[in-house]
Amino acid sequence: MTKEFSLDRRAYLKTVGVVGTGLGVAGCSGTGDGGGSDGPTAITAGTAPGFPPFEMKEEGELVGFDIDLLEAVVSEAEGYELDGWKEFEFKSLIPALNSDKIDVVAAGMTITDKRDETIDFTDPYYSSDQAIVVRKGGDFAPSELSDLSGHKVGAQKGTTGESVVKSELIEAGDLKESNYNAYDNYVLAVQDLENGNIDAIVIDQPVGQTFEANRDVSIQFTYETGEKFGFGVRTDADEMTTALNDGLAAVREGGTYEELTSKWFGQ
Ligand code: GLN
Repeated sequence: MTKEFSLDRRAYLKTVGVVGTGLGVAGCSGTGDGGGSDGPTAITAGTAPGFPPFEMKEEGELVGFDIDLLEAVVSEAEGYELDGWKEFEFKSLIPALNSDKIDVVAAGMTITDKRDETIDFTDPYYSSDQAIVVRKGGDFAPSELSDLSGHKVGAQKGTTGESVVKSELIEAGDLKESNYNAYDNYVLAVQDLENGNIDAIVIDQPVGQTFEANRDVSIQFTYETGEKFGFGVRTDADEMTTALNDGLAAVREGGTYEELTSKWFGQ
């Protein structure tokens, strides 16, 4: 109800001509809950840098597509404003959300049935598949997942890339569990791949592409998963979720979405 109430109140204040003074508010108090009626509700966002170009640190500053997009979305979300960003390892984001440390996750997070059991998602804002990334110019040239058999494979903990390794390779009997290295973030996995400690990484395709452009690694093939990224929200935050979905639609319609995809993906 916060959103409707703050709209009503704004309209009321406009009518009586006391915007922002705090005077004449007594007349409103009978209709509201007190909280959230004094202005926009502050949202704290959480992310996991090391996932370029969605979120990464550049000269100590948090930047990326998710950062710009969520900021644009919240500025279009009636009744809400962005308070700031907190950083976590990817696997800690859902616990942080559900313990109220943050209010929204913007981390290239795939909407999955499993995650949907504990959190909700906004409408999707990006699509992805998984890429199998190897050392640039190396001898290892897998063309399908089963070719990874007998090699060392890495992914980031708690990701859909890790799920592909577990369900399609380990559970299928194609990869020994001891040949899977789980990393706190994909930057560490890329380092280990460059150093020859592992032979391949399973990672979201657009992020694999960014590493290919900047590091000594290249995409060997793509494994189609048809994933969709959404912003993660608590299951009891329906009002905020609706406002974010409206904000996302406005950002798409107003052309900002396209500006941001060309800024970060050059497309
Ligand atoms: N899209 C993948 C997932 O949701 C990876 C996200 C990430 O590593 N930031 O698991």
